[in-house]
Amino acid sequence: MNTSFTDKIEQFITEIPKVELHLHLEGAIPLETLFDLIQREGRESSIKNLDDLHRKLTYTDFAHFIEVWTWKNTFIKEERDFEEIAYQVLGNLSKQNVKYVEAFYAPGDYWRQGLSVQEITEYLIKGKERAHRDFGIRSELIIDLIRDHGPERSMQYLEEVTAYLDKGVIGVGLGGSEQSFPAEPYAPVYEEARQRGFRLTAHAGEAAGANSIWTVVEKLGVERIGHGVRANEDPQLLSLLEERQIPLEMCVMSNVKTGVCESVEDHPIKQYFQQGLMVTVNSDDPTMFNTSISQEYLVLTQKLDFTPNDLKLLSMNGIVASFMSDEDKELIKSQFEKKWQQLLNKYF
Ligand SMILES: [Zn+2]
Repeated sequence: MNTSFTDKIEQFITEIPKVELHLHLEGAIPLETLFDLIQREGRESSIKNLDDLHRKLTYTDFAHFIEVWTWKNTFIKEERDFEEIAYQVLGNLSKQNVKYVEAFYAPGDYWRQGLSVQEITEYLIKGKERAHRDFGIRSELIIDLIRDHGPERSMQYLEEVTAYLDKGVIGVGLGGSEQSFPAEPYAPVYEEARQRGFRLTAHAGEAAGANSIWTVVEKLGVERIGHGVRANEDPQLLSLLEERQIPLEMCVMSNVKTGVCESVEDHPIKQYFQQGLMVTVNSDDPTMFNTSISQEYLVLTQKLDFTPNDLKLLSMNGIVASFMSDEDKELIKSQFEKKWQQLLNKYF
């Protein structure tokens, strides 16, 4: 592939209008911002420059990833840090033509540091509103209820964010150690969230198999699935996902970096897409995995032969799978259609 052709493809990929539905704000802090937070603290002598930090963000397996994740969180010291985090993350996404984001945040990760769920939420809302004013990017927050913390604490988090529902917070998600903490005990929390008007998603089929996906669909009543990579362990489950068009928030590079998939070529996203499942493209923790939403689209063309029209369908799927109102979906769909017309004329 010659350089100018590669440049052209990369430029095209950057210009694709995008929706991001599976992104953890704390895993997306731009590297420079994260480095500044670490420097402010001054206790981490092993991180002297961006290269050191970059090297720190490589993992032997999923458990090691969680360990580094926790280490990184210790540098977030105050609730007000979250305003800048939201602002920087959204600014970065805006540069990649992301127009709408549903982002996870996990305030429960900071209880040991004594940070309050409400204040974290308020600062994030401030940051996202500032990003909307400055960059025009729209976003909503999804509170991540962390499996490892148990259903009782999760119910408490739910209680604490209910005041912000439809004022910046739109839904609940369930992250954490899927292999050790099954989702079933969270059924009452999800039922309560649904009744209060929260939209529902949960990580499943990433560190655990098809059974874990069945549980979140049947017991938690989720509207979307985070990852769902391992759905192909059960053909009946695949048929159900296709029939009901339950969206999968897929994050290819994340799955490769944590060892859930051996390589991009081994990832089932192409199979699911061809089978007609509601597949979306997302970046999960772009800083932690040295990826970006643009990079996620790029590997699909470079390694899995997705065509420009396939990418168009994927970018439109992001709108369909989102928790936006039908009215907003129609509006953004027509903007995306227009942009796609221009892009296909310009590049192909
Ligand atoms: Zn995730």
